[in-house]
Amino acid sequence: MKLLEYEAKQFFAQEGIRIPKGILASKYEEICTPSSTWPENVVIKAQVDVGGRGKAGGVLMADHTAVIETARKLFNSTIKGVPVQRILIEERLAIQHEYYVSITIDRTKKQPVILFAEAGGMDIEETAHAKKDAIRSVSFSPLLSDVPGFLLRELCGNAPAEIQKTVNQLYHVFCKKDALLAEINPLVTTPDGVYAADAKLIIDDNCLDRQGIAVNRDLTDREREAEKHGFSFVEMDGSIGVIGNGAGLTMATLDLIEYYGGRAADFLDVGGGADSERVMHAVRLVAGVPSVKVIVVNLLGGITRCDEVARGIIAAGAPVPVIVRIAGTNAEEGRRLLSEKGYEMLDTMDHVVKKAVEVTG
Ligand code: GDP
Ligand code: MN
Repeated sequence: MKLLEYEAKQFFAQEGIRIPKGILASKYEEICTPSSTWPENVVIKAQVDVGGRGKAGGVLMADHTAVIETARKLFNSTIKGVPVQRILIEERLAIQHEYYVSITIDRTKKQPVILFAEAGGMDIEETAHAKKDAIRSVSFSPLLSDVPGFLLRELCGNAPAEIQKTVNQLYHVFCKKDALLAEINPLVTTPDGVYAADAKLIIDDNCLDRQGIAVNRDLTDREREAEKHGFSFVEMDGSIGVIGNGAGLTMATLDLIEYYGGRAADFLDVGGGADSERVMHAVRLVAGVPSVKVIVVNLLGGITRCDEVARGIIAAGAPVPVIVRIAGTNAEEGRRLLSEKGYEMLDTMDHVVKKAVEVTG
């Protein structure tokens, strides 16, 4: 789950990383205080989960006389289509230099990896493309509780020693918060020392419980519902609902939809041995995706029994057409049940997908 900047900054501060003084506002009215109470210069930052926020107009500068007016402008805007519900007003730092640091996991090496660039800031992507050696990286054993000093020196090059210390503190956050990503861009030097001017933290969804996070905000209501049933479910924006069993078969169905020029509305893997009730929940869930015009059910009966699948589809009573391809255990009986109710069945996944693409135009 992605945290917003102000949340990530609190965790960074707990590890001793310096963050600018600031206040969070979720309503324009909350900040209508006289200009004399504001610092001379501030940065006003939309708290939205959007990459390239600064370039998209989500980070505004103001002096103390213009705080309220600038904040109002930001509250009334959308950043890359996302409405601004919270803003962070911070004392503006006197930035001397912007660095980039990011910690993630190198899945090939099965180790944490730290990326560092002397030239951080909003153009980091371009910098990384243009200059191959602009970003240095080190990885090390996950059993170490600190980044080894020699690696910090190698990583940070000529940057001041306090930068190295901050990188190590960021690594502590990364470990303690079960993060998949902990990033500061820019990590800045100022006359008062080193500060995290921005903050990014993504918590591993598998660890939300342990982190005391009850609700994964990144999931849609339907994705959360699916989690309860134990379905692997991802909502997308096409019009063809997909239900399969096994990640491979379901992915192959998505690929085929794309191949024939259609757009999938979801990925739903009911898992092995699904009974009629499970299938019913799956069909209802997918039918509830607003963009769905037709549902493709592509199931292979192994331990899953196709007659159970048929009963589930019938019980769901989806308001959109359901096109079925079932094969394997008890397929005959399943087909009989479905054809009694007038469901369309085709023999191969190629045919069901083609048909669904046709239906959705
Ligand atoms: P992002 O676009 O979402 O990554 O937003 P950032 O929080 O990184 O801000 C974008 C840019 O605004 C930074 O790279 C800085 O150049 C600038 N910026 C942010 N905070 C400050 C600040 O306190 N002082 C100054 N001078 N510039 C800032
Ligand atoms: Mn940034």
